[in-house]
Amino acid sequence: METTVHFLERIVRTPQANSYRFTRPPGFSFQAGQYVIVSLGQEGMLVHPLSFSNGPHQDFLEFTKRMTGSAYCQYLEGLFPGDKVVIKGPIGDFSMQGIHDDIVCIAGGIGITPIRSMLIDLAHKHDRRAITLIYGNKDEEDIAFFQELTEMNLPDFKLVHVLQHSSEKLKTHQGFITSKVISTEATADLQSSAFLISGPPTMVRTVEKQLALLGVRSNQIRTDRFLGYP
Ligand SMILES: Cc1cc2nc3c(=O)[nH]c(=O)nc-3n(C[C@H](O)[C@H](O)[C@H](O)COP(=O)(O)OP(=O)(O)OC[C@H]3O[C@@H](n4cnc5c(N)ncnc54)[C@H](O)[C@@H]3O)c2cc1C
Repeated sequence: METTVHFLERIVRTPQANSYRFTRPPGFSFQAGQYVIVSLGQEGMLVHPLSFSNGPHQDFLEFTKRMTGSAYCQYLEGLFPGDKVVIKGPIGDFSMQGIHDDIVCIAGGIGITPIRSMLIDLAHKHDRRAITLIYGNKDEEDIAFFQELTEMNLPDFKLVHVLQHSSEKLKTHQGFITSKVISTEATADLQSSAFLISGPPTMVRTVEKQLALLGVRSNQIRTDRFLGYP
């Protein structure tokens, strides 16, 4: 389904990631974790899939883009309030549909976007399950939604940061997301949890291998690969 939405505002999330908010047309609905194809530019020549980074109950639509200097990013930066953008969707089966177990979310960098949408949704629904978020970034300043995730309004929520470069301020794991980090930090039983992994394809592949080392079955895992990043 093709829908025209109107640009509302830009919110700076990190030095390299901005959120862009748009109007939500009446009747437009999506599931947390889904994405749309967002066409920009003359005759919609600049096209990328972008995940919703906000909750499905909120009265706006939000995407959060890693800023790479591409023509697509430059176009996003040039939007004025009221400008029209065409979106196609919602698309995708990276969602929490049919998941009744405890959840371990694993996000790499900008891969946090669909997972943030899910967490907002879970908080909105007063979900009481054990939920762990393991969030990998290069540096402390790259952590998007830091404050919000720290204060996430869920009764059994644990946030674990993994940074490639150590931080003086934050208690984090240093390096990459390994089987050791997952097994020591996940609050629920690994064999009966659902795993939601989102990030660049290389990161998703690496985490899948780490989960296999822990005996996690592939039917416990759902993935969202942000093709377009290495
Ligand atoms: C299902 C799905 C959901 C996704 N959701 C998101 C999301 O929520 N947020 C998000 O950010 N991405 C998301 N992506 C990835 C997104 O669709 C793009 O592929 C990605 O953002 C790269 O687009 P780009 O315009 O930045 O770079 P492109 O123009 O596609 O170029 C690819 C790479 O080349 C480099 N590059 C290009 N132009 C320049 C330049 N002028 N200067 C320097 N370097 C340059 C950049 O490193 C860039 O990453 C998603 C992908 C999929 C498949």
